[in-house]
Amino acid sequence: MYWDKEIETISASDLKQEQLQNLKKTVQNAKKSTYYKNILDKININTLDDIENIPFTSKQDLRDHFPYGLLAKDLTESVRLHSSSGTTGNPTVVFHTKEDINQWADLVARCMYMTGVRKTDVFQNTMGYGLFTGGLGFHYGAEELGMLTIPVGPGNSKRQIWFMQEFGTTAIHILPSYAIHLYSYFEKMGLDPKKDTSLKTAFLGAEPHTDALRKEIEKLYGIKAFNSYGLSEMCGPGVAFECLEQDDMHIWEDHFYAEIIDPETGEVLPDGEEGELVLTTLKRAAMPLLRYRTRDLSSIISEPCKCGRTHRRIARIKGRSDDMLIINGVNIFPMQIEKTVMQFPGVGNNYHIEIKKEDHMDRINILIEVHEEIFNGTLSKLDQLKKQIIEALKAECGVRPIVKLVEPESLPINEGKAKRVFDLRDKEEN
Ligand code: AMP
Ligand code: ZN
Repeated sequence: MYWDKEIETISASDLKQEQLQNLKKTVQNAKKSTYYKNILDKININTLDDIENIPFTSKQDLRDHFPYGLLAKDLTESVRLHSSSGTTGNPTVVFHTKEDINQWADLVARCMYMTGVRKTDVFQNTMGYGLFTGGLGFHYGAEELGMLTIPVGPGNSKRQIWFMQEFGTTAIHILPSYAIHLYSYFEKMGLDPKKDTSLKTAFLGAEPHTDALRKEIEKLYGIKAFNSYGLSEMCGPGVAFECLEQDDMHIWEDHFYAEIIDPETGEVLPDGEEGELVLTTLKRAAMPLLRYRTRDLSSIISEPCKCGRTHRRIARIKGRSDDMLIINGVNIFPMQIEKTVMQFPGVGNNYHIEIKKEDHMDRINILIEVHEEIFNGTLSKLDQLKKQIIEALKAECGVRPIVKLVEPESLPINEGKAKRVFDLRDKEEN
């Protein structure tokens, strides 16, 4: 189902009523998991405010209870799992029943329909298929809406453009950084997407981006671009999305209970105040999550939207309350890099991670100090170490960094707390 007026324009009091019913069911269901069983032992939900008695769930909790600790249904009822990008130690894994998958497809279809996309559109998905949810999540939503769906997957700009032109792609799901990169490819080929494609709509998601960048993409392609927010722990894309007003993202409150907290104290903040988004699944069967700390910084907008939908909106994501980096849509924690680099005996004491924009895409450069004897040893040994480090980082993080091995004690040291990550993306290009 991709358009249900009754649900999307539900009154605040009816919505609260429905949320309360589903929260009660979710808590009951969650009690079947080994993780929540004890935590929820003494929790009674009589009003929505009672949710504040439930402790937060974190990414670390998911890792610590890998793989089945948060599973509330028998594993045989799950039909799919997704997992977030590489992590040191256990990854976060999320399970879905057939019904969970259907609901997710409905949500994504609802999002796309809201932007004016219809069955007659041709949809091209340039996001990664596989464990990452941007591929299959949008794919199922687009098919639910009945569009011709082209699962090109990421990269290969020439092929992207070929498909767009041959099949008259009108709607595209794309990383904002890749949209800019792809434009330069159009230019190189002497093409202008405004004239030489049928593109009308883009869904931009999976990484933080500014409104200015969105406007730039709209101008370059002659299209409307909509912000798409989601995270694999909830389902993936389909959590919050912009409507035609393009004035922040409706969060689907029939499926997710949203709170904003002070990331330091955990205190729940009133609508309008900026803090960390905390989400509770209200309908998921296989793996309910209660008060999940997304670490994404936003605020809840309760003023009515001109489109008439009553589900409140969340503001464009301002950043994160942890140190997670998003490199071309892939999530990486600096600790993953440290652990991988430091396992090589030739590596010295210090390293720096620099993230820059090159040709509009994120590039990660890692400067690593090596021991004297390695640095002054044979070139082939140095080169071999570099190759090994690159391969290990690729395997751990899912992205290939540029690695430079440098002399011992050549990297500047910060006084006080070590500063090793230098995110220089804002300072360039945009
Ligand atoms: P993943 O679990 O791999 O799907 O990554 C989810 C994370 O990507 C979120 O928690 C956000 O930090 C980030 N993200 C997803 N969509 C957006 C968006 N539209 N704007 C900013 N950040 C986003
Ligand atoms: Zn709206």
